[in-house]
Amino acid sequence: MQITGDMLIGAQAVRGNDAVLQAINPATGEVLGPDFHGGGAFEVDRACTLAEQAFDTFRALAPQRRAAFLERIADGIEALGDTLITRAHQESGLPVARLQGERGRTANQLRLFASVLRDGRWQQATLDSALPHRTPPRPDLRMQNIALGPVAVFGASNFPLAFSVAGGDTASALAAGCPVVAKAHPAHLGTSELVGRVIQQAVAQEGLPEGVFSMVVGAGNEIGTALVAHPAIQAVGFTGSRAGGLALTRVAQQRPQPIPVYAEMSSINPVFLMPAALRARGEQIARDLVDSLVLGVGQFCTNPGLVLAVDGPALDAFRDAAAAAVGVKPAATMLTPGIHAAYEKGVAGFGEINGLHRIACGVAATGPNQACPALFETTAAQFIADHRMQAEVFGPSSVLVRCRDAGEMAALARQLEGQLTATVHADPDDYEAVAGLLPVLERKAGRVLFNGYPTGVEVSYAMVHGGPFPATSDSRTTSVGAAAIARFLRPVCYQNVPAELLPQALQDGNPLGLWRLVDGELGRA
Ligand code: NAP
Repeated sequence: MQITGDMLIGAQAVRGNDAVLQAINPATGEVLGPDFHGGGAFEVDRACTLAEQAFDTFRALAPQRRAAFLERIADGIEALGDTLITRAHQESGLPVARLQGERGRTANQLRLFASVLRDGRWQQATLDSALPHRTPPRPDLRMQNIALGPVAVFGASNFPLAFSVAGGDTASALAAGCPVVAKAHPAHLGTSELVGRVIQQAVAQEGLPEGVFSMVVGAGNEIGTALVAHPAIQAVGFTGSRAGGLALTRVAQQRPQPIPVYAEMSSINPVFLMPAALRARGEQIARDLVDSLVLGVGQFCTNPGLVLAVDGPALDAFRDAAAAAVGVKPAATMLTPGIHAAYEKGVAGFGEINGLHRIACGVAATGPNQACPALFETTAAQFIADHRMQAEVFGPSSVLVRCRDAGEMAALARQLEGQLTATVHADPDDYEAVAGLLPVLERKAGRVLFNGYPTGVEVSYAMVHGGPFPATSDSRTTSVGAAAIARFLRPVCYQNVPAELLPQALQDGNPLGLWRLVDGELGRA
C-alpha cells in the first residue's frame, strides 16, 4: 500500500491546499516522504457532512454487520505486515517489537468490540410492562441504547496504532454505530494514512456508506477546532496534553449545541509502598519500578511519576536501589522533538523547585531527541506545600516522597489530583493501614492495583482507563476496554410504542435473543 500524503474523505483520497506537513524520524531528524497536504474547514465540512449522511444507515445496521466491519479492519491492519511496522518505527522511534505488540493489541481491540456487538448487552434492552390497573396506571416502557452521532477522534502521539486512527476511540465509536472523522496526529502521518486506508477499504468492501470514516490532516490547531465545532459532530475522543484536551473541551462547550469531550490528559500514577512490603522486597520493587518508569521512554499515560513510602532504613535501601537502577538506564529517543523539549523543560523545572532534589539520572543522551531518565526526592510536607510537584512530566521521570508515617501518606493522597491509576505494594501486615488508604484511592483513581506496576493496560471487559480530572475530562467512563462503547451511546425510552414500530431489540418474544431486563429480571426470554 502506497502512502500518498492525501487526506481520506469518505471514499476519496483528497489533496489539501493548506499547509504542507512532513513526517520526521525523531531518531535521526530525517524527513520522511511524501509531503502531506493539509486541509482546513472545507475538508472538515465535507467529512462531517458525509458522516452525518451515513449515520442513520450505519446505526441501523444489524450489530453482526458492524462486527464483521470491525473484524475486517483488524484483518486489514494485520495484512499491512512490515509496511506498517517499519513506517510506525520510523515515525515514532518506538522499537519494532513494541509496535508489533501494539498492532496485536489494536487488532484484538477491534475484535473485542465485535464480540461486544454480538453479545448484545451494550444495548441495555430494558422492558417495564404496562400496569393498566395500577393507580395511576403505568404505561408500557421500553429502553435501549442508540448511537450518539458522528464522533471526532484525535489520535494520540504515544500509541501510533492502539490509540490512534483505528485505536480504542475509533473502535468503540464504530461499534456503537457512530461514523468517525479522525484527525491524524502530526507525529505519525504515514502510519495514520496506512491505517486510514484500511478502514476506507473496509467501508467499501462491507458496502457501507462512504461517510462512515474520514481522516483529515492539518497543521496547527485550526483543523481540530473546526472539527470539534462542526454541528454534525456529537462527541469527541481525545488523548494528549492537558492544554489540548481543555482547549477542545472549551470549543465543545461553546458550540450552540455543546457536546461531550472524552479527553484523557494527564496523570502521575502514584505508587504507595507500604512498610512491610518495603521491608520484605524493597530492592526488587525498586528495580521493577524503574523498569516500568523507563518502558517506552516513559511515554505512557500510566507512567509511575510519583512514589510514596514511610521514612526509615527500608526506604533508604529502596532509594539506593532505585537510584542505582536509574543510573544505568540509557537515554532513549522520544516520540517527537516537541515532546522531548517538553520533557527537558519539565525536568529542568523540577530542578528549580526548593526541596525537590534530583537523586539519579540515566546515561547521557547520545542522539537527537533522547530523554535521560531522572529520579527526584522530596518530603511529603514539601510536596503538599508546592503544587508544581504534581505536574506530569511526560517521560521517564519520577518523584520519590518520604512520608513521616502512614497518616501523612494518606494525607498526601487526599491532596492529589485525579489519576488514571494508583498502585499499592502491600503485604498482609500492611492490610490494616491499606484499608484506610483504599477509600481515598477509590476517589482519586480509575484503577487501583496491587503489587504490580501501572504500565500495561489490559484491553478487557473490567478495565477502566479513566479517572477524575485531570486524568480525564469525564470520570464516569473509560477509554480502554469493552465499557468504552458507553461513551458513544445514549438511552432512548419508548413509551406505548405500537408493537409494529418497536425496534427489534425491544420487541415481545425477544427475536434477537438478547439479555434483557424485563420487569427487573435479567434474562433472555
Ligand atoms: P497534544 O499536543 O495535546 O496533541 C494531541 C492532538 O490534539 C494533536 O492532533 C493536536 O494537533 C491536537 N491539539 C492539541 N491542542 C489543540 C488545540 N488547542 N486545538 C486543536 N487541536 C489541538 O498532545 P501530543 O502531541 O500527543 O503530546 C504533547 C504532550 O501531551 C506531551 O508532552 C505530554 O505532556 C502530553 N501527552 C499525554 C498523554 C497521556 O496519555 N496522558 C499522551 C500523549 C501526550 P496539532 O498538534 O496539529 O495542534
